Amino acid sequence: MHYDRNGLRIGLDHPNGDFSFLSHAHSDHTSGIKKQKNIIASRETLALADIPTEPYSHPAARMIDAGHILGSRQLVIESDGEKTVYTGDISLKPNVFGMSAKIEQCDRLIMEATYGDPAYHFPPLNEVRMQLERFVKANDSSNIVIGAYSLGKTQEVIKILNEAGVAPIVTEEAEFFCSVYESFGIPLERIVVGSEEAEEAMSKRFVAIVPMGKAKRYFASRLATAFNRKTLCAAATGWALNFSFDTDAAFPMSDHADFDDLVRYVEESGAKQVEFFCGDGSRVLKAVSAKSGAIINS
Ligand SMILES: [Zn+2]
Repeated sequence: MHYDRNGLRIGLDHPNGDFSFLSHAHSDHTSGIKKQKNIIASRETLALADIPTEPYSHPAARMIDAGHILGSRQLVIESDGEKTVYTGDISLKPNVFGMSAKIEQCDRLIMEATYGDPAYHFPPLNEVRMQLERFVKANDSSNIVIGAYSLGKTQEVIKILNEAGVAPIVTEEAEFFCSVYESFGIPLERIVVGSEEAEEAMSKRFVAIVPMGKAKRYFASRLATAFNRKTLCAAATGWALNFSFDTDAAFPMSDHADFDDLVRYVEESGAKQVEFFCGDGSRVLKAVSAKSGAIINS
């Protein structure tokens, strides 16, 4: 996607443009961006994306918090009297680390709509957090594998487990991201798979965080055989609200805005023109019009 107005062309999570903005380090946004020399991004995002460059800056563009994962930002572009906001992925409610998106007033909004469906209304984080803690404590003689994306969700699950007195086993991929979180002042107690410490930990009951694709009953039953201990599996994802997973438990934890938050962002931004990506936002605009009577072009 691009911002292309008034002689200014900016790649939005895209490598082509006079310069690019990288909203955060999830791989669907970083792919290809390394081709670009001039990247506006937070230092955290560049470290997580493993891009060894100094952040670029431009007088027409500034970043504000996005609350999605460590380092995630939105871009505010002011050019020729018009203000545009590109949200990248956002979460308005504070996550486990207290990160949350700021709502910026603007003329034109380019917004994610991952959960642009009124069926997605996420329960309060504390509720989900307690469900997860209870599950881990109630099954303290079983191994537990929890499926979570290795960047963002995994670090939030580690933090919740740490507060319940558990240091989970993580993959090497997740370990790289954890070490970057730590270098930016977020301590996370975890054990890396394959290490001596992990061998030791796995001789007793353990909790492991695995890629989403591994959080399935067949994988848990293979572990149960290998370790001769009952093994349960769970998933931590916003999709758990409406899809059933082949797991013993699912926790609807999301680092995206839910439907009501998308509606709130459009309303409070005052934007007269809204475009969506990563999903269909037509129902968001309908909800805004029904509430306020505002006419918004998309
Ligand atoms: Zn993302």
